[in-house]
Amino acid sequence: MEGDEFMSDWSARNGYPGGDNEEKCNFCGCKYRVQYSLQDGHNEREEYYCPDCGKEYGVRASLTPTVTKISGRTDNRDVKYIEGE
Ligand SMILES: [Zn+2]
Repeated sequence: MEGDEFMSDWSARNGYPGGDNEEKCNFCGCKYRVQYSLQDGHNEREEYYCPDCGKEYGVRASLTPTVTKISGRTDNRDVKYIEGE
């Protein structure tokens, strides 16, 4: 399939949109949007952080994801997330 070969070659050399998700932090309740791109052969675990408490999350992507805050935390606290707490 010529068309498929062209697409796989193209996607190995160019990034393309991999996801656009609305997520909610399970530590503080902050809502945020995560956008990331993919590129064949370059995808690995990339970290991103909750914009309010800093909790680390990960997604398979080619570049560090862009996080846009949608709404603030809902836990009425002011603490940062501490790993293992
Ligand atoms: Zn959070």
